[in-house]
Amino acid sequence: MSISSFSLEGKTALVTGGSRGIGKSIALELAEAGADVVITYARSVDAASEVVREIESKGRKAKAIQADAVRYNETEAVIATIQNEFSGPDILVNNAGITKDTLILRMSEEQWDDVIHTNLKSVFNYSKAVIKPMMKARSGSIITIGSVVGIGGNAGQTNYAASKAGVIGFSKSLAKEVASRNIRVNVVAPGYITTEMTGKLDDKVLQSIKDRIPLKRAGNPVEIAMAVQFLASDASSYITGTVLTVDGGMAM
Ligand code: NAP
Repeated sequence: MSISSFSLEGKTALVTGGSRGIGKSIALELAEAGADVVITYARSVDAASEVVREIESKGRKAKAIQADAVRYNETEAVIATIQNEFSGPDILVNNAGITKDTLILRMSEEQWDDVIHTNLKSVFNYSKAVIKPMMKARSGSIITIGSVVGIGGNAGQTNYAASKAGVIGFSKSLAKEVASRNIRVNVVAPGYITTEMTGKLDDKVLQSIKDRIPLKRAGNPVEIAMAVQFLASDASSYITGTVLTVDGGMAM
């Protein structure tokens, strides 16, 4: 058996939350590897258009769709657009996510619901919407961006940790359901990565995080994108139901 490569030539990838941060890096990296890429976003119209321009400048087809990942009907519309205007989708990257951090004593029901819906229900929405076309194609790769916080927990993030632990259980269960159809389902769990999401943290918290990272530095979004490219490609054809931590050793 020959493993073809890390190439994504001829494939279509959908990256949720591809307008900024980690999602943007993933979208650009998958395009660099040869995929046509559709991104979704919530509000950042200009940033999303810029990502489309960058992908097109690499000679790939691209589209940005404003769609709330929390709403199943919007999710279905995104998949229908991809089926009409592209092929696939062959690759789904569930990346859209938010934080609303506070200790449980102060956490409102709304803060709990917003994070669980955006980070966990969205993963159900998009995975359910792509599974039929992937089953028909008898191939597919679904990659969800989790977090080391979903493995080890973090004070002030009960909502976020629950959502990220949830995507691990979800992905392992789905991996078992669809493995016989040659669909692989995996999680990439980043540690501390420099983006707008982590830009909200104050300097003291930041320093205490860095002190806990064996490699002694924050990660770069591209380092997450490279792991996603691997799991999206045939180079990982025998890997499913796994959680790949990309965290400078933080979760050890
Ligand atoms: P970010 O810079 O804040 O970007 C979040 C992205 O998600 C944006 O594209 C945003 O769209 C989109 N989004 C948010 N809510 C959405 C919704 N309801 N529907 C559609 N799109 C929505 O975040 P990031 O740091 O890149 O994080 C990306 C993923 O990595 C998240 O799942 C996060 O939990 C995970 N992660 C991040 C870190 C880290 O250190 N940064 C660590 C572990 C895990 P708009 O631009 O339109 O708002």
